[in-house]
Amino acid sequence: MRSEDPTDRAAHLREPDRLYPAYVFDLDGTIYLGEGLLPGAERLITELRRRGIPVRFLSNNPTKDPEQYAEKLTRLGLPTPVGDIVNTVVTMTRWLLEHAPGQVVFPLGDPPLIRAFERAGIPMSEDPAEIDLVVASYDHGFDYRKLQIAFDALWFHRRARLIATHPDRFCPFPGGRGEPDVAAVVAAIEACTGVRCEQHVGKPDPAMLSLALADLDVDPAEAVMTGDRLATDVRLARNAGAAGALVLTGDSDLDDLAATAPEHAPHYVLDRIDQLMPRRLREELGWDDDAPSPT
Ligand SMILES: [Mg+2]
Repeated sequence: MRSEDPTDRAAHLREPDRLYPAYVFDLDGTIYLGEGLLPGAERLITELRRRGIPVRFLSNNPTKDPEQYAEKLTRLGLPTPVGDIVNTVVTMTRWLLEHAPGQVVFPLGDPPLIRAFERAGIPMSEDPAEIDLVVASYDHGFDYRKLQIAFDALWFHRRARLIATHPDRFCPFPGGRGEPDVAAVVAAIEACTGVRCEQHVGKPDPAMLSLALADLDVDPAEAVMTGDRLATDVRLARNAGAAGALVLTGDSDLDDLAATAPEHAPHYVLDRIDQLMPRRLREELGWDDDAPSPT
């Protein structure tokens, strides 16, 4: 595919012609890139909120508190309440309260995850004899001592189950670098115990979208999930039965799209995120598509 050809590019774009009752967005590459909002993000989110349509922002990253994402969006010019942010700190906490109330958890995670469990009153222990759930996560303090506790809980006492916040193998950094993510922690535990991880609550597991919308009266199948990655954001939408929108401002490009099986393809493909607003309404709002990169 000649993705550089503008005519060819336009032929692959597909915009929604209706509004949805809830909008869920990935953050990096979708709403912002580094320290700047992407074109159209501010006016789209502002207009959706003005219409009373709920908006949620998703991240798989459990090494930050939702407050930190809310602060960042607010700092970039998009004032955002913390309740609109749903990362795997939020989804894991909700999942435990819903699916494992009262069960004793051994978390392998960074302080934001542990703090959320504490606030939610989730019982935690490092005693393998009383651990019901080993919760693997992106843990910068992962070491042999923690691995031994998980091993004893899962393999020796044979009572605990293994779950994880999200599936990511590594966390990408600027300049093409990265850092080992939760998959490395899960693999270490699985390798020595033979126990398989049963569940995760990050993209693209459909549980992420259900848990993200848990405080709204909106079924995932009615929502639209927008992101810059086919393998996580769009896959999440498809797995959850939601509408999926790919925005070409981040990771995935038209070549990736061409290589995607029809059942994993997005319903919508957008050049800019504000094209989620139907064209008829954009015209009413005076959003000029030819204007140079408004925010
Ligand atoms: Mg992204």
